[in-house]
Amino acid sequence: MRRGTDLQRTIRIADFELPRGAVPIETLMAMPRESWEHLRTQINIRRQEAPNTALARCRLCEGGVFIRAQAVDGDHVPFYAHFPDSPPTCPWYDGGTLTPDDARAAQYQGNQESALHRQLCQVIEAVAKADPRCKASAIDTYLRPAIHTRGRFPDIFLDMGDLGRFALEVQLSKPFAPEIAARHLHYEREGVRLIWIFRRLDEPLPQGFHDVITMQRGNAFIFDDDAQAASVARGTLVIKCLLEDGKGSYLKPRLVGLDDLQTSSGRSVFLEDRRSERLATYCREVRNRWWKAFQQAQRDKPASPFYSESFAPAWASVRAHVPDLSAWKDAYWATHADKGQAHLASLFAILCSIAHSAAQDSDVVYITRHSGDGALLAMLNSKVGSAAFAPYADMILQFLGVTRAAALGERASLQKIVRNARETHDQVTIDHPVWKAVVRLFPEALDGVVRAELIDLAQLPRWADPSSGPQSLG
Ligand SMILES: [Zn+2]
Repeated sequence: MRRGTDLQRTIRIADFELPRGAVPIETLMAMPRESWEHLRTQINIRRQEAPNTALARCRLCEGGVFIRAQAVDGDHVPFYAHFPDSPPTCPWYDGGTLTPDDARAAQYQGNQESALHRQLCQVIEAVAKADPRCKASAIDTYLRPAIHTRGRFPDIFLDMGDLGRFALEVQLSKPFAPEIAARHLHYEREGVRLIWIFRRLDEPLPQGFHDVITMQRGNAFIFDDDAQAASVARGTLVIKCLLEDGKGSYLKPRLVGLDDLQTSSGRSVFLEDRRSERLATYCREVRNRWWKAFQQAQRDKPASPFYSESFAPAWASVRAHVPDLSAWKDAYWATHADKGQAHLASLFAILCSIAHSAAQDSDVVYITRHSGDGALLAMLNSKVGSAAFAPYADMILQFLGVTRAAALGERASLQKIVRNARETHDQVTIDHPVWKAVVRLFPEALDGVVRAELIDLAQLPRWADPSSGPQSLG
């Protein structure tokens, strides 16, 4: 029986012109006779009509191939064979001197992977070019000399006219973090949209793939058989998009075209921004509990809302993040004869007054009876000037300084009161449980890591963006 030996020495995958695409030897051998005979005939017709444009090519050497019918046990079995003008150096060369072991070794030395890479690039370029919007395309080269000199060539470059210019990187093996960042920055500067395309997502996913998905805001793009079939059917490039579900997995894949993607957000292209939404949820999560508790408390206990029991679940939610709060609460009671929970609720109301005034461009105050224009400054002067909140002068000034209401921090009356508070009271610092609690309540303003990520993603909320603020407020 020759079949086993032939399988190792024959061409394992032939790439047919689209829309047929890749046909592995196993698929060919499993076809009914009339199907492979049709393929065989079409290949031979093409060979006669256009000898230099093969209908099917060897995956490894790209030489033209035909279908040889091998007589086996009174029947015929189809195999691929190179046309005589194919390169004799192909590891799959059937007439060559390679032993089956050599051929197998060649496969595992990456030949097959680089051939798959090349074939994917060719298919992706071909389906993109079928789109009438495509003005220019290139594989492994760039059309603009300015970029040539810097030595960075995208796998596929597409100029899609009004849709924009795209660099597609087909990544079969693990990409390296510095290269990912360098490419994003490079293409951002050039005004070219970079999209990383994978063949599949392995489990467990190597970090390099995670890095790309992070850069693409929780989107993974795949070009597989489904995407190829959809591309051929729609006459444009279609890719499969997997969106993070926020629980360590992905939502049901969606087949999308380039015009479905968001390309206006600087250095990354995505279908849906999955990361900013999660970050925004994190920012609001604990604060919302406090805000709801405060609204409830105002109804239940209008005269002294901060002492309302409705703060209990909100307190528990922040204490879960800052366990030191429990010991601080006991110590606060012992030294101040006041409830720590009520104290934190009052501080929350002070900071909410700043945040909401900044968001609305008009003064809203949730503690003290000040109202109208100037209410926020009057409240801050009053609170920072009080013994209970003088220890938070630094914190309140820092908070104010990273909001849209930052100009208020420059006001002479507040500056004077802050100076006085610093002279008369030890200031609460970043390792204090209350400071940590406030960081968890307002991460957009006070959590450096969260704030930097929001800035990178251009998602900093308006209230927490001093550069968006008026010169003075209130
Ligand atoms: Zn070959």
